[in-house]
Amino acid sequence: MSTALRPSACPGLLRIVQALDGGICRIKLNGGSISADQADVVADAAERFAGGVIEATNRGNLQIRGIGQQSAELIDLLLAAGLGPKSAAGDDVRNLMLSPAAGIDRQMHFDTRVLAEQILDTLQSHPRFHELSAKFAVQLDGGEALAMLEHPHDLWLSAFEREGETLVAFGLAGCPTGPALGAVALENAHALVVAVLELFLDLARPEHTRMRHLLDELPISAFLEQLKTRVQINAVIAWQRAPAAQGLHIGAYPQTRSGEVYVGAVPPLGRLDPSMLRGIARLARQFGDATLRFTPWQSLLLPNVKETNASAVLKGFERLNLLSRASEPLAHLIACTGSAGCVKGVADTKQDAGHLATLLPSALDVHLSGCRRSCAAAHCASTTLLAVSPGHYDLYFRDAAQPGFGALHARNLTIEAAATLLAGRARSPIDA
Ligand code: SF4
Repeated sequence: MSTALRPSACPGLLRIVQALDGGICRIKLNGGSISADQADVVADAAERFAGGVIEATNRGNLQIRGIGQQSAELIDLLLAAGLGPKSAAGDDVRNLMLSPAAGIDRQMHFDTRVLAEQILDTLQSHPRFHELSAKFAVQLDGGEALAMLEHPHDLWLSAFEREGETLVAFGLAGCPTGPALGAVALENAHALVVAVLELFLDLARPEHTRMRHLLDELPISAFLEQLKTRVQINAVIAWQRAPAAQGLHIGAYPQTRSGEVYVGAVPPLGRLDPSMLRGIARLARQFGDATLRFTPWQSLLLPNVKETNASAVLKGFERLNLLSRASEPLAHLIACTGSAGCVKGVADTKQDAGHLATLLPSALDVHLSGCRRSCAAAHCASTTLLAVSPGHYDLYFRDAAQPGFGALHARNLTIEAAATLLAGRARSPIDA
């Protein structure tokens, strides 16, 4: 395996990026899935060669923080467990997001995992695609009820049915809930991905690292016209992706096979320690199929659990300090690393989020960000607290008419003041 990698600020499995609290290694998981044995290895690696902090990311991946001098040993351990890419240069392009309930969701139009495997193989084995930015990302949505539909992707695909045939709608630099550019037959979906990525690389200049950069200069209709010469595309007539239901990542939900459920829970603020991860792996072996899936909500689920064992899994999660009830405020808060581990952070967002959770009377989705980079949220949260100084935040509410975090509502709030304001707003039928 060649270890020559292009420069990037993003951590990868083979590229440990330094932060205030040590090195960060990001482990990309196919469809968010990891075996219980591999989870044990991640726990061992975090314990032996790092400070023991494991994070669930908002792309359904894992990362180990606080890595010290033994980064080579840590990488070797992870590679030996089969957690690496097929080639060193293929690590960065393994950015394909699926529903965490791929293949088991009752609402899905097809099991996306086989196609996802093909796409991931091509991304890693096609040298041309290694020119893509480490942030360039593709979403494959099979129509599942459990779906993150708010993260913009450079290319998204979303399945639907028309006259008994499964078709795949697609769009660029957006989300499946936005307008589709066209659709292809399911058997042409892989060819579509290859054609879109090759056309992007043909047209993009070096400064166009993301699809949106190219489309700032090139009309999307011109991109589509060229794409039509490479792959057969059908027009999409009056199709719109149904919005995803909220909260399906916490608790137990039925799968396609009767009598089976998946059971989800949230590690507080996306963080696990090695004993939590080992405990979850044990639950997966005892009650599931010895696999875990991580989700874009910085949470996890155990698939293929017998319905009769769901309460035992939920109790097991609670014993491990995972949040398995949607009513718990902390299960709905997300926070970046903040000043405790990031030089750009102006407040200790994780600690402040923990404090905020104790003050909120009910479950509200709130994102705390240590600076404008918004590492914890790939989407615009309904409420954002942006740090302006230690313990103080500006408050924004999502507003489709305003870019970034939305509309600025109040400045320089303490956590207590933010909690009071949010609690009052939650009680107000006008503002809620
Ligand atoms: S959002 Fe800013 S402060 Fe938070 S982790 Fe990212 S760069 Fe650091």
